[in-house]
Amino acid sequence: MENQQHMVLLSSPGLGHLIPVIELGKRFVFHHNLKITIIAFTSHTSHAEKLVLKTATSGGFIDIVEIPPPDISSVIDPDAAIVTRLCVMMREGVPAIRDALSNLAGTATVRPSALIVDIFGTEALGVAEELKMRKYVFVASHAWFLSLLIYAPTLDKQVQGQYVDQKEPFQIPGCTPLRPEDVVDPMLDRNDKQYQEYLGFCNGIPKGDGVLVNTWETLQQKDLESLRNRNLLGGILKAPVYAVGPLVRLPDSEMSQGIEWLTHWLDGQPEESVIYVSFGSGGTMSCEQMTELAWGLELSGQRFIWVLRAPIDAADAAFFTTGSDGRDEGGSKLSKYLPEGFSSRTYNVGVLVSEWGPQVDILTHPSVGGFLSHCGWNSALESITNGVPMIAWPLYAEQRMNATLFVEELGVAVRPRVLPTKKVVDRDEIASVVREIMVVEEDCNKVKKKNPIREGVKAIRRSAVEALSKGGALAQVVATGEE
Ligand code: UDP
Repeated sequence: MENQQHMVLLSSPGLGHLIPVIELGKRFVFHHNLKITIIAFTSHTSHAEKLVLKTATSGGFIDIVEIPPPDISSVIDPDAAIVTRLCVMMREGVPAIRDALSNLAGTATVRPSALIVDIFGTEALGVAEELKMRKYVFVASHAWFLSLLIYAPTLDKQVQGQYVDQKEPFQIPGCTPLRPEDVVDPMLDRNDKQYQEYLGFCNGIPKGDGVLVNTWETLQQKDLESLRNRNLLGGILKAPVYAVGPLVRLPDSEMSQGIEWLTHWLDGQPEESVIYVSFGSGGTMSCEQMTELAWGLELSGQRFIWVLRAPIDAADAAFFTTGSDGRDEGGSKLSKYLPEGFSSRTYNVGVLVSEWGPQVDILTHPSVGGFLSHCGWNSALESITNGVPMIAWPLYAEQRMNATLFVEELGVAVRPRVLPTKKVVDRDEIASVVREIMVVEEDCNKVKKKNPIREGVKAIRRSAVEALSKGGALAQVVATGEE
């Protein structure tokens, strides 16, 4: 097609990275008529990943060039943190990215004119320069997190000792201060290799010609203003910041295949009566915590759907393997980890799904009224844009920041208390927070009382719908390619 722009999007490994990149690609195709190719590091072992890729390419609107993740076993320790592994994979993958891009530049009917990388792909920006393409960074999270990334190299110079040992919150110009206990994973230990990797990509972000962030103006006005103000963070990040969100998946018939039994069960439940429990693509928990969660759900007396994974002490153990086991309806393989008799006592009240659930179908169903979530940004947006309040249960990455944002700033979530001595949330606390968001109290005349969290999430949903109707900032990104 004449004058059609072709953009290439680069996704780092992990479904929590691939899913928002695909959504960004779809928005470019369907709202701006661009040609989109996604270069993705894919595992080929995950049933869930195959499904996500299949839905992205069905209809033939998006091309995906799959690259196997490079073998990094001789480069780093196999137990290295996820951030280290991601950064090293993306660095070692640069030659393959260069080959894929050069190939596209030589053969595609429309020559690609821009490359958009996620935060782990900033080292590939140099390849875009070599090929005379515009270059952007896509932050598949929120503007407060982007502010921290931009300010991290300054904090590195200002703060002495470990961040988690500081007594005062960290001041980020023009933004909400960040409490030491809310820092992102790579800041937990400055002596770990992931901290240097983190500073590396933080320094890489301002090298783009622009930064796209999955938020919207009315949700995070303050942070966006700071990022654009030359006297605040805009003094470090000179490139324009485009608030392109909310980018969220919609239910897709391909993704829903094989889950008719679940939809049928949900159809039979009262409106907003089911709490959905899931910890994203990588989240895992200890055996002790899993037992408490099972008891808490049971004690709450509420209906639930729980995406179960085998217990393990690390919080992000499923990151590279998620969805590899295929579907196990009713979670029967994993029920051995649950308290004795749990499945029979919660029969008909609760549904267990193993490894990977059809999250978007669940959150869009009218019977779902709450989400116990690890607070991954994609999950949270899927919840908020469907008017579903959350219980914030952060595990890793930037999720502690997200939880603070949802609970304290946006008022769309409650956060359970963790027992400091045991580092678990106990069953009574879980039952109490589940009831807090699920049970609608009635006054003496049997009129339902308003639940402030439910009201809050519905107001934010309206602002998301409004942002979507305005089309967001993608049109500006497209326009820069037309100049
Ligand atoms: N997801 C899903 N089913 C699951 C778990 C996750 O469909 O059982 C999807 C979820 O809808 C979201 C993404 O995987 O789009 C997870 O991204 P998020 O940012 O929430 O968390 P991450 O996995 O990156 O920690």
